[in-house]
Amino acid sequence: MPKAEVAIVGGGISGLSTAWYLTRAGIPACLFERRGRLGGVIVTEVVDGCLIEGGPDSFLSAKPWAMELIRELGLASEVIGSNDHLRVTYLWKRGRLVPLPDGLMLMVPTRVLPMITTRVLGWGTKLRMGLEWFRASGNAAPPDRTVAEFVREHYGQEAVDYLAEPLLAGVYGGSPEELSVASVLGRFVELEARYGSLTRGVLAERRRMSARAGSLPLFQTLKAGLGRLVEALAGAIAPSVEVHYGEVEALERTSAGWRLRSQGAWADFRAVVLACPAYEAARLIRSVDGELASWLEEIPYSSSMTVALGYDSRRFSHPLNGFGFLVPKKERRRLIACTWVGTKFPHRVPPDRVVLRCFLGGREDPGILERSDEAVLGIVREELARIMGVTEEPVFYRVARWPASMAQYTLGHQDRLRRIEQRLEALDGLLLAGNAYHGIGIPDCVRSGKEAASRIAARYF
Ligand SMILES: Cc1cc2nc3c(=O)[nH]c(=O)nc-3n(C[C@H](O)[C@H](O)[C@H](O)COP(=O)(O)OP(=O)(O)OC[C@H]3O[C@@H](n4cnc5c(N)ncnc54)[C@H](O)[C@@H]3O)c2cc1C
Repeated sequence: MPKAEVAIVGGGISGLSTAWYLTRAGIPACLFERRGRLGGVIVTEVVDGCLIEGGPDSFLSAKPWAMELIRELGLASEVIGSNDHLRVTYLWKRGRLVPLPDGLMLMVPTRVLPMITTRVLGWGTKLRMGLEWFRASGNAAPPDRTVAEFVREHYGQEAVDYLAEPLLAGVYGGSPEELSVASVLGRFVELEARYGSLTRGVLAERRRMSARAGSLPLFQTLKAGLGRLVEALAGAIAPSVEVHYGEVEALERTSAGWRLRSQGAWADFRAVVLACPAYEAARLIRSVDGELASWLEEIPYSSSMTVALGYDSRRFSHPLNGFGFLVPKKERRRLIACTWVGTKFPHRVPPDRVVLRCFLGGREDPGILERSDEAVLGIVREELARIMGVTEEPVFYRVARWPASMAQYTLGHQDRLRRIEQRLEALDGLLLAGNAYHGIGIPDCVRSGKEAASRIAARYF
């Protein structure tokens, strides 16, 4: 069994980042991954000349940790940005695709004319958005609220239904009625405390930021797909990190640290990083600390599914003048969102092809993951015909299922994290990383791995 002193459970981007930062600190480790491959939900495939991402396709440029990692791996020259000059997102409302108005920061309007002319919102909401400007800041910090409560307070129910819900469903597969505003839109809560009005707050902040902001695209990714990042990490951590393809079945505390069992064999480590989903960390921790396990288990997850369809571009008539569309729950049957891949990113789709990448599942519809590929294809095609008028046969399709993959930061998430982190203090050598705690996106997952590695380096080596 391994001689390394640190074990990492989970070979997604969080576990791989932990492995990379341990490697850089000169600390050998052992990474356990139960699937037969690394990357977790990151999977890139080239089909018929088209680059298909089964999971994430890019990361937000505003959060630096993914780009830092990419630079450290020597991949900076392979980074591409989203085609922001074509960035329009449509919303399916009452039988038509309506562009989201310009100048919207999530659900916060920052430009007057596009808000007046948009067909996404009715006059009542537009008026309310205008009046929000005069909202004064309160004296006491309110307790955590759901995103729906927060957005309703500022802009009314229609902004929840047609802005917050579809935008968050696309990111978390979650519902604004469950998600915690402090955890999901923490910056907006700060702006509310300072300015009262979100619109005034966002505009003031933007003025401050614009002096130092560069012209980064909204999203960045690697030309050859995010699978390239996984491949580079796998190369860079060898041979300092031994990868074991097998599930970690059990974890126990010892006088010198921790021991874990994989494929029936026990191995001892000074420190263990659980870079797996919180419910899996809970299962492993239960015999050591039942209460901590129950707090971890309280973090719910949503399931998601992507279906990419490739078409012959000569037979495709719908204009692809945007990044794609969102379907609000109020109007939804099954489809949550669809990305027009060739428009969002250059080089990913050759001129003779069109690729539509559809998202399904989420908290509302986990059952879709149980349906056969053929059944899902039928559902997606019917919805694309209804929404985009696309009736052509796809020349290929790919389905990717991600059960219980997206952590939901529900009401009270911050409190839960505080309890979890306090309790971990008493469990010397046990650390958590992953999308269940301080951010669900790839940059946040990279940061979680980096922080776990630096705590280990500072404390144990
Ligand atoms: C469809 C989809 C689209 C997304 N799009 C974006 C996007 O565009 N941009 C963005 O920034 N983020 C996006 N995200 C979110 C982001 O990709 C994820 O939050 C992130 O990749 C999670 O990484 P992770 O390593 O924490 O978890 P995972 O990728 O889930 O990896 C965890 C790993 O742990 C392994 N494991 C679990 N239990 C055990 C065990 N007991 N023993 C051994 N191994 C175990 C699992 O097999 C898995 O490989 C998307 C997510 C999904 C599902």
